[in-house]
Amino acid sequence: MKNSAVYIFFIAISLSIHFQGFTQKSKLKALIIDGQNNHAVWPKSTIMMKQYLEETGKFEVDIDRTQYTWKGDREKDFLPLAGVGKTEDLENPKSDPDFSPKFSKYDVVISNFGWKAAGWPEKTQAAFEKYMNNGGGFVSVHAADNSFPEWEAYNEMIGIGGWGDRNESNGPYVYYTHEGELVRDNSPGGAGAHGPQHEFKVTIREPSHPITEGMPKTWMTTKDECYAKLRGPAENMTVLATAKDVSGKAPTDRHEPTLMVIDYGKGRVFHTTLGHDDYSIESVGFITSFLRGTEWAATGKVTIPIPEDFPSASKPSSREFKLNSSSQVNN
Ligand SMILES: [Zn+2]
Repeated sequence: MKNSAVYIFFIAISLSIHFQGFTQKSKLKALIIDGQNNHAVWPKSTIMMKQYLEETGKFEVDIDRTQYTWKGDREKDFLPLAGVGKTEDLENPKSDPDFSPKFSKYDVVISNFGWKAAGWPEKTQAAFEKYMNNGGGFVSVHAADNSFPEWEAYNEMIGIGGWGDRNESNGPYVYYTHEGELVRDNSPGGAGAHGPQHEFKVTIREPSHPITEGMPKTWMTTKDECYAKLRGPAENMTVLATAKDVSGKAPTDRHEPTLMVIDYGKGRVFHTTLGHDDYSIESVGFITSFLRGTEWAATGKVTIPIPEDFPSASKPSSREFKLNSSSQVNN
């Protein structure tokens, strides 16, 4: 090779290395947090969500987990895939004094905690509030809206929640009527209920929001729980979609909030009540709304498309989860 050719060759190599570095840096950074959830699917669902996010090519995903876990046994094969080192599964949830994710490193934080999760250390709560106030992104999945009933800022972030002795002191019930009227109902009573798992219809209420834009007006879930009677501050909250329990044992005759967005400080929250077990999380409706909601919480925009296999008004759609090698973390 002549000198000039060698020179061009090295320029090309260094540009290529630089470009690869640049494309990696341009990925959104997501953090899934978990460890204590009454839903024993959690070690698996964390890995499912991580893989879904990575398969878009838009996210790098880390996992942070409490050192004490609860109900980690059913899906224990998935525990090591998180790459978080050794954890200890206990009979009851226990607070982890060392749980302190570096929230500020991330564009979006996804909670896979659930009912009865032990409270975070105060300094971790404060760090999370600061992260959100400064413009962070948060995604609450299924029973994550059961967590931390005593934590005022958390209740504001999720908008509405259930169980954990929540009641009228937390704020109104929020729902749609058959006539399509949005109601904030201050009547007294407990929060959180659901009928048996079944396939039910989701109705889009805000078709022009970036997360729901382009979705069919109604679409079917796979077998899942239709959360009902959620209540909370519901401030700066927009209900994007509702669902009606048609199991025959519905706790209400209302159209219950299913997908929501909440503004908290300068931050953005996406809240989905869907995702009870692995077959619920394999729903293309769950996957698509989760991915678009997570992108929106991270950036305020959505570029992830509605896929061809998205469910219709009459037909659920499901993708069998297969672990891909990139979901496995070496550590
Ligand atoms: Zn559930």
